[in-house]
Order: sequence, then structure tokens, then C-alpha cells
Amino acid sequence: MNPDGFRHRRRGRSRPRLLPLLGLSLAAAGAAVLAAVLVREPVGSVTPGVESVTALSTDQPARREALEFRMTDPDHGWIRYADGVRTTSDGGITWTDSASVPADPAWGAAEGQELPGPEELPAVKSLQFQARDYAVKQVQFVSPELGWALVQDEGELGGGLLVTGDGGRSWQREVTQPVRDAIRRAKLELQGRLKEAPLYASAEAARLVFRSEWLVMPETAVPGGAVLIRHTKPGSVYWNGRTYRLEPYGAGYFTYLPIGMDVKPGRYPIGDKMLTVTSKKYPSQYLEVTEEMNRMRQDTKRIAADQAKINKARSVSQPEFLAGGPYILPVEGRLTTPYGHTRYVNGKFSGAHLAVDLAAPEGTPVQAANEGVVVLADSLYLTGNSIYLDHGMGLFSQYAHLSKLQVQTGDRVKKGDIIGLVGTTGFSTGPHLHFAFWAHNVQVDPNLFFGRSPFHWLSLPEGSGTEVR
Ligand SMILES: [Zn+2]
Repeated sequence: MNPDGFRHRRRGRSRPRLLPLLGLSLAAAGAAVLAAVLVREPVGSVTPGVESVTALSTDQPARREALEFRMTDPDHGWIRYADGVRTTSDGGITWTDSASVPADPAWGAAEGQELPGPEELPAVKSLQFQARDYAVKQVQFVSPELGWALVQDEGELGGGLLVTGDGGRSWQREVTQPVRDAIRRAKLELQGRLKEAPLYASAEAARLVFRSEWLVMPETAVPGGAVLIRHTKPGSVYWNGRTYRLEPYGAGYFTYLPIGMDVKPGRYPIGDKMLTVTSKKYPSQYLEVTEEMNRMRQDTKRIAADQAKINKARSVSQPEFLAGGPYILPVEGRLTTPYGHTRYVNGKFSGAHLAVDLAAPEGTPVQAANEGVVVLADSLYLTGNSIYLDHGMGLFSQYAHLSKLQVQTGDRVKKGDIIGLVGTTGFSTGPHLHFAFWAHNVQVDPNLFFGRSPFHWLSLPEGSGTEVR
């Protein structure tokens, strides 16, 4: 018996799933003719056990040479041999004979979705296994740490794959615990990307996201605006005197950053990216109200009591995006005061109006701008009947001066749900909806959200649309 044949048999015994096949093969071992017939069986019926028989029964063992392989995700893949195909659905722990190479799905297609491929991955030309150097015929990584390789051998590896769970520093034939851990992490990353990828404007945009450590979406903003930050790892961002914690979502970690009206134009580093704040001049607005109404604004005790309620409602936000898609205008109304107007009431400066006013007839239904949770539905002194919705990740929308509240604190609402009716309660000169967005308790421009998902704020670099990968 030649040593090569011996190695084949020993390997067979070390893998329990091969035992029945091996037993069957040994029973047939006396009949060299049968073995010869078996190796000529059509593609798909040849088993690893039969290979052992061949090795035993001839002086020149047949090498089962693997021609190519592909892992379509951390679980699923195939190896094609000159005489058959084997597939795996558990990351290569077990392999089964298959009639043919499975249809070549896109990475992640097992979950029924196309997913942009992974980022820059190790390139391996040769590797060391059991103190021997091998030339690599084919290598495929699905994450920076998890990869498989097919090497040029003399048959001693039996046409199997080698696998690494540490980015190619060490390679194994068996799926060891560290490799299993790498598979588990790669699957979590894959699931996260499958959840996150559809939120972006295009597959190209998603590819850019998954290849970037830091993202500032968009990279240019104005005072009164907001940006969405993404990082690949947990942590926090220090911005304009405050620390913002990054919350996990999909495969990344996120926070909104409000660009307050006090932020000076300039370039601000965020991780390895740069946020450019450009100046914006907001127009002025002059309002005349009755002295009785103007006196309303001086009841600081009632205003402070309301503010305590509002602060409490806005102090906690769901640490996830409750709404990923575009926001809608809550009423089809006439825009009477755009965002950011500097206001003068009866000739006196009264601050900037950091909301939009939409005039509409009393009783016009007001819709939730997006999915969220009602964190406050109450009658307040200045803003009248008011609603605050939490959209998650520190983003709230506010609806004021309603004639009627149609939700209660704690309700969960969907985009477009009627939550109240237009009115003129509180400090108001006529029926209208005062609508604002609050990002981490700073009022930001609602126009950034209307008709556009915050995930679409991502700016693609020039010419990136033509990039092929
Ligand atoms: Zn207003």
C-alpha cells in the first residue's frame, strides 16, 4: 500500500460523516473492476469514499483535484472537481456531493437580497500549512478575517479547502473554534449589511458606506442643518461642546449631529472625514400681535413648567431608526414662515423661528411625518395642543397649535397616521401647523427631511457612479 493511499483512508476515518461511505467502499475494495466503474460514474455520484478505494486498489492513486470554488456567503459555497461538485451550507464544516455547481448568486443572495461585496480584503499568493509552503490557486475572503483557499498540492489535501479566521496568518483544514467565531462575526456583519444596504440611494452608495470607517452624511452643511454620522465600531463623537454616543444599527454605529445656529462656518474634522459648514443668511420676519397676546409670552412660570414636561419627553429616544425612509409634509398647507426666519414681534427681536409654519383651515388633518412613538401629547401654554414624536436616534418631530389631539403619549404611529387637527391654540395668530424637527434637543431644518431619507444625505464622490467593481 502506498503512503498516499494510507493518508486518504486515515483522513476518511477522522471525519465521522465519511464512515458509512468508507465501510461501503471497503466492502467493494476487492473488486478493482467495480472501483474502475465507480470512478467513471457520471458527475455527482462520486463520493470521497470511492476515492479511497481507488487509492487502495491502484499503484497510482487518483488525485481528486479541485478546479475552483466559491463561497457565496459565510455559510454557503461549492468546490468543483474534475469529477464532481461538493457544496457546503455550514461554512465548510460539512460538504455534500451535488449534481452540479449551484447557480451563482450574488453575495448574500441566500437571504434573497443582493448585497454589495465586502471591502478591501487580503490578497494571498502563497500560504503555509503544517510547516509546508503552498502556492495558492484560488483564494476568497468574505471579511477581512475570514477566507478560504485552494492550494497547489500533490493530493495530500484531498482537494479540500483551507480556511483562515485570522486574516490569513494561520490556515486550517478543519473549521476550528476560532474559525467558527470568525464565521459567526461575518454572518452578523452580513445580516447587518442586508438590513442597512437598502436604506441608501443605490448599491454604489452602500458599497461606499461599507468600505468607509467614518462617514459624514452629507459632508457639507449650514447652521441650522443636521448631518448623520456612521462609524464601523461603537464609540462617540465630540461635537460643538457635546459628546454624542454612536448607536448600533445595521452593520454600523450612528448618531445625528445638529449644526446649531451658533456654529461658525469652517472645516471640522470628524474622525478621518471633514465636515464643512458654510454660512447661510436667513431672512427676517416682522409680526404684529395684540398687546394681550404679547403679554402671554411673559408668563415665565407657566412656560417653565411646560418646558420641564417637554424636556422630559425629549430626554429619551429609541436607540434605533424607527423611520428610515423619507419624511412627509404633515399637512398640505401654505408655507407662511420658512425655517430660520429671524423674528421681530411688535418691533422687538424675539429670536429665530426654527420651525416651519404651514397655514391650513381649522380642522385639517395632521399626519405623522414618519413612523415613531408619541412621547408627548398635551395642551401646553405657548404652543397649545402639542405633539412630540420620537423617530429614534435622538430625532423628534413637533406639531403645535392643534385644535384637537388624536393620539396619546405612548402611542406608536406610522407615517401618514392622522395624529391631530390644525388649529390656533396657544400663541398663534390664525389656524396653522407649527412644525419642527429636533435632533438631540436642537431644532434643525425640516426641509432636510421632507421627501428625502437621511440615508440619502450621503454624498458620492465625483465620478463614482461609473466605478465598476
Ligand atoms: Zn411657528
